[in-house]
Amino acid sequence: MKPAVLAAIDAAAPLPYYLPAGDECELFEHAFRHQLPLLLKGPTGCGKTRFVAHMAARLGRPLHTVSCHDDLTAADLTGRYLIKGGDTVWVDGPLTRAVREGAICYLDEVIEARKDVTVVLHPLTDDRRVLPLDRTGELLEAPPGFMLVVSYNPGYQNVLKALKPSTRQRFLAVEFDFPEPELETRVVAAESGLPEARVAALVRLAGALRALKGQDLEEGVSTRLLIYCATLLRSGIKPDRAIRTALIEPLTDDPDVRDALLRVAQVTL
Ligand code: ADP
Repeated sequence: MKPAVLAAIDAAAPLPYYLPAGDECELFEHAFRHQLPLLLKGPTGCGKTRFVAHMAARLGRPLHTVSCHDDLTAADLTGRYLIKGGDTVWVDGPLTRAVREGAICYLDEVIEARKDVTVVLHPLTDDRRVLPLDRTGELLEAPPGFMLVVSYNPGYQNVLKALKPSTRQRFLAVEFDFPEPELETRVVAAESGLPEARVAALVRLAGALRALKGQDLEEGVSTRLLIYCATLLRSGIKPDRAIRTALIEPLTDDPDVRDALLRVAQVTL
């Protein structure tokens, strides 16, 4: 890594709070230093986005985050010609901006994007590290500060939406999961301001609800929802109401499943 790239670090700016579960921060730093792309796998709301924000700040790189959806095309990432005041001007998309700036580009839920997106990712994720812009005729070479990070949630068992081996084998992959109870308690307390003793009971409940995943629930309760619940409690909402609003209703629309979850909450707390 050239010193100039790290010179952009603003030592005074606080880093986005992230409590590591293992060696993921070191792995990210090594991947960045060796210009290797990274794939983060894990359920929604477990800390992937926060991790990337933390690491971008730690490495002093700007961050461009794109939440992918099923209408997202390669042109949304690379850019397009737009009419501005009677003129046709090229406007960079977030991926192109990240390459030009030597920034980190994070494509959240990349699996949702249209297939043509992989075409622009492939030349960026091998040793060429180039972004061809067919429309402008440019071939951008990614500077050392550029890094591509993508995430997806393997929990949604959608055969049609599996990442193709030819794409996934271009990335280092790090698995994420909900933090261990002791760690999750610290995270939820830090983010919500609710004392750890009260958060610990919520984390226990989350464990019981997560154990039901796969039976009646597609996804277990996320760390994000736990933080919402703790925030409501701290703000004075009664526990029954906070738990129902933040931990039960977001998980299911089925009245029978909801009642079963409420019973789990009653016996766990
Ligand atoms: P994902 O990108 O995996 O869907 P997020 O990164 O948005 O999830 O995480 C949801 C919230 O959970 C974050 O806003 C943050 O408050 C919190 N969080 C989860 N894990 C951690 C962690 N290890 N350290 C700090 N905050 C965390």
